[in-house]
Amino acid sequence: MQTLRKKSLYTLSSTSEVVPLSSSKALDFAAHVFNKEKLKQFLSEKSFKQMLQSIEKGIPINLVLADQIAAAMKAWAISNGATHYTHWFQPITGATAEKHDSFFNLDDRGMQIEKFEGEQLVQQLPDASSFPSGSVRNTFEARGFTTWDPTSPVFIYEGTLCIPSLFISYTGEALDFKTPLIKSLQKLDKAASDVCYYFDKTVSKVNATLGWEQEFFLIDRSLAASRPDVMLTGRTLLGHSPSKNQDLNNHYFGSIPDRVSRYLKELENESNALGIPVKTFHNEVAPSQYEIAPVFEEANLAVDHNALLMDLMNKIAHRHNFVVIFHEKPFEKINGSGKHSNWSLVTNSGINLLSPGKTPMSNLQFLSFFVNTIAAVLKHEALLRASSVSASNDLRIGLQEAPSAILSIFIGKHLMQVLEELENVSKGKLSPEEKTDIKLNVIGKIPEILLDNTDKNRTSPFAFTGNKFEFRTVGSKANCAKSVTVLNAIVAEQLLEFKLAVDELIDEKNMKKDDAIFNTLRETIISIKDIFYASENEKESTETLAKKKGLSDNKTTPEALPAYVKESSVTLFEQLGIFTKNELETRYQIDLDEYTSALQIESRTLGDLAQNHIIPIAIKYQNVLIKNVKGLKEIYGAAHKEHAREQTLILERISNHIAEINSGVNEMIKSRKKANVLVDSHKKALEYCNTILPYLEHIRYHCDKLELTVDDEIWPLAKYRELLFIR
Ligand code: ADP
Ligand code: MG
Repeated sequence: MQTLRKKSLYTLSSTSEVVPLSSSKALDFAAHVFNKEKLKQFLSEKSFKQMLQSIEKGIPINLVLADQIAAAMKAWAISNGATHYTHWFQPITGATAEKHDSFFNLDDRGMQIEKFEGEQLVQQLPDASSFPSGSVRNTFEARGFTTWDPTSPVFIYEGTLCIPSLFISYTGEALDFKTPLIKSLQKLDKAASDVCYYFDKTVSKVNATLGWEQEFFLIDRSLAASRPDVMLTGRTLLGHSPSKNQDLNNHYFGSIPDRVSRYLKELENESNALGIPVKTFHNEVAPSQYEIAPVFEEANLAVDHNALLMDLMNKIAHRHNFVVIFHEKPFEKINGSGKHSNWSLVTNSGINLLSPGKTPMSNLQFLSFFVNTIAAVLKHEALLRASSVSASNDLRIGLQEAPSAILSIFIGKHLMQVLEELENVSKGKLSPEEKTDIKLNVIGKIPEILLDNTDKNRTSPFAFTGNKFEFRTVGSKANCAKSVTVLNAIVAEQLLEFKLAVDELIDEKNMKKDDAIFNTLRETIISIKDIFYASENEKESTETLAKKKGLSDNKTTPEALPAYVKESSVTLFEQLGIFTKNELETRYQIDLDEYTSALQIESRTLGDLAQNHIIPIAIKYQNVLIKNVKGLKEIYGAAHKEHAREQTLILERISNHIAEINSGVNEMIKSRKKANVLVDSHKKALEYCNTILPYLEHIRYHCDKLELTVDDEIWPLAKYRELLFIR
């Protein structure tokens, strides 16, 4: 009888044959997107302008205009082969969701008519009672509605016109990732535009930009299918490291196997047709690990594109007999996957506010945004860290090349010097000489410094990389809207405070604008100095120092999540109108429950695997050894002991492992039962973290030892060396 693993290895050779590309023809960029350029052809000039204005100012689009836009969309969609439409949204589960309705309805006489008007464009009522929503939605109001997000263009995906949308409960609470993201972008726009106004009166809008770098593993589908753990939990709960893993580092930037190239090619083609500007594909450090990065875009669109790309990656992988693994740590002792989120601010005239300019004033503008971003992150480091945690990401953070749990900031020693010099600017009004000196010798140096930005750090959680900040803690599986929302919100809050302080100096101390800005920057730098310098100095950024300086060091999800509901976070979100306290509580509960259920599923899956796959195979192998020992006895009589010495030792070793595994599973089940009766979600999550996780490790250890001992012929699960080296 063949094991599933052996069968999979057999099918592997047949599936690795050339898979024909589903659309071998190269598609035009954004061929499947109804973008502004296309919309313009369908609308009157007046309506088009009205629409652009609504988008820019965030004012709702009236129904008359919505009718015109819907008619345009429908005509375009049907002429491009679409038969259905759907509101496409991102519920808090992290995946994307959709409910398809046909463009065709029946009229009173039962005749088919096309029906898609402003009303259908603007709102849809999905039956959404099974999306998680914590306590917000009680059973009597078990439905929410989705509402069109006109800032992200509609697109055709698999014959359906997809309308990017928000998901909101009847009582008005956000049930998705995009609603708070958009609110945070609006607040940030206002706060940043007001600060820009000191430097440039023509700025009318500031947008956050986001460039994500999506890492993932690609595994053969039939091999993955032989691993219930991979299929059910997205990671290997068992498996010994192969004798060759990433030590040789020969995968990084190495050549991509043909089979993978064909997959990536098709993915690139279809991503481009959907307007996702993917730009680079490359091998990552670990075997079978890859990265895709696009050209950065406005944050809201970038978030949609990342969600869409992840969906597309899964679908196309299926055609190529691959499985995409988005889990942050699918393989023990091998690099995990992140979704580095590069973030910056751009004005309506295309000026990157985190990039120094050509004049002292534009460099002072740069410094204002730079220093305030750092101050915001340090003030809310625990919250920002909490925005990136999950059961799966906990397994990655702090290990092999991944950022640590302490949210330190890296800006490089040259910029550090600039801050030190700014800190020494004298208090109050500055003399003309002093001002010239700062402008020439401090801020004037910045462009050069950045050109020669040689001191790079690859693993800092939050690093300035020349013209943007890179938040590296975000997990590969996560919806990056979560962290970007927090980042937008904290920077908005900080900029509001900054503006208040500058205005006060101008109004009350009669200071000139640049004096007031220098003074406020100096105070800001002084206020963050201790904690910042500690976090910046890599060598010193040890756990003890972090503690001493007040940076949190929350290594696990249940430890980190309470930052969402602490006073400073509630105040932040309530004052900006991004989340109510109730919404925060709800999200906190959902995240805790999600954590617990992830561990619960892992624990059950490992229990089953250990007892139904590993122990029976170990016993089978023991029986082979027993037969062997008996045979030796038949031949050698009493002298067999000497001949069977090693076999007997192996037999004993297997027995010990079996005992550890079996008792481990039984005790783990008992602990689970004990944890499950806890009513408080936080206590339950902590209990799972502190008692169940260690069992997972303990059981794994013994199973992995058996993998090294038991006959390879009968081992039931695909091994690391088979999973990780695609042929
Ligand atoms: P890395 O060394 O981190 O791999 P890359 O240059 O490959 O750096 O990737 C940087 C990412 O940063 C890209 O996805 C790019 O789109 C993004 N990026 C560049 N400029 C900006 C910006 N102004 N705002 C947001 N993201 C940006
Ligand atoms: Mg990066």
